[in-house]
Amino acid sequence: MKSLDAFARKKLKPLMEKGLKRDIHVTERRQSGEVIREERALISFCCNDYLNFSHHPKVMEAAKNAIDRYGAGSGASRLITGNHPLIRELEQKLARLKGTEEACVFSSGYLANIGIIPTIIGSRDIIFIDELSHACLRAGSSLSFAQTVAFRHNDMAHLQEIIHQHRKYHQNALIVTDGIFSMDGDLAPLDKLSILARDNNCWLMSDDAHGLGVIGQGKGSRYMFDPLPEIPLQMGTLSKAIGSFGGYLCASKPVIELIKTRARSLIYTTALPPASVAAAITALDIIKQDQDYCTRPLKNAQTFAHLLGLPTPVSPIVPIIIGGAERTMRFAEILETEGFLVTGIRPPTVADDTARLRFTFSANHQKDHIHALAAVLKKHGII
Ligand SMILES: *Cc1c(COP(=O)(O)O)cnc(C)c1O
Repeated sequence: MKSLDAFARKKLKPLMEKGLKRDIHVTERRQSGEVIREERALISFCCNDYLNFSHHPKVMEAAKNAIDRYGAGSGASRLITGNHPLIRELEQKLARLKGTEEACVFSSGYLANIGIIPTIIGSRDIIFIDELSHACLRAGSSLSFAQTVAFRHNDMAHLQEIIHQHRKYHQNALIVTDGIFSMDGDLAPLDKLSILARDNNCWLMSDDAHGLGVIGQGKGSRYMFDPLPEIPLQMGTLSKAIGSFGGYLCASKPVIELIKTRARSLIYTTALPPASVAAAITALDIIKQDQDYCTRPLKNAQTFAHLLGLPTPVSPIVPIIIGGAERTMRFAEILETEGFLVTGIRPPTVADDTARLRFTFSANHQKDHIHALAAVLKKHGII
């Protein structure tokens, strides 16, 4: 298909010129954040496996045992082959951890968000979304066909203003936010959001992909607040600190029953493989038992920020905004030659002119690696 190839080349050309073409390099992940790329060992500071659970011996053993007992795949959608006992166990554990009546596990966080939002919000409704919310919350909002209005990042006065302007014209309304913002590492004001939601008859949904396991005694961003804010839709992923794969929604029983009946990305996709579910269950058990271990990623991020005089982080994500995409990628290359894997983050993942190096810290990062990384950043004038 010559015309198709020509189309693809034409689309890629301006992206290449702006340093926005993406390549996925073969990279082998090893224990404790070590990776192998082009036969070189690097220390990774860009992985979301905050607690190193993807290589935790107990988590790996649980996954292997699940394969031996239940096989490698799940056969079909849960609505066809039935609920796997491991999925039921995982849902009960998640609901208990988040303090909700029920939970529903999806096959990824992305699938969760594109399933949840259109199930509860329709074309006559409205969505208020933080402008820095994750791409899959945007995708879920689009699929709902509801009017979607973005508010300035964490700006409650702006949210109040747009609610005042639009709320009255719509039947139902949903406020959507990340708990911890994936590319900035900061925390949403969930206390204020929950009050605004209550006072304006809106529902509140938080995406805690980067909070679970690493803040709020391992329970996530909601648990950073006292009193606990009311968040009727608590979504998250099992593929970051949990070290496995999958997504979830914790909510009341009627909401979960509706999701299981209606969410298309649950109904029309194959259930998680048993090994991923077993791994997630074991990871959640470790989080519950070892709160001290859960604090390590954040402590490592704070050590790093302190060394460079950056503001104290509230999550294991520390961005250094560079600006231009090409400059960012050049810095990432320099870090790679120095033995560190830190991926440059470019538009459209982040806004134009805010390309950045995004550093993530995990439990097993060693003090000397953190010090060495900070020294390299200073040596090359990156900061
Ligand atoms: C990673 C991420 C997701 C998607 O989760 P997956 O399980 O990787 O599909 C959703 N929301 C946020 C905020 C994320 O960072």
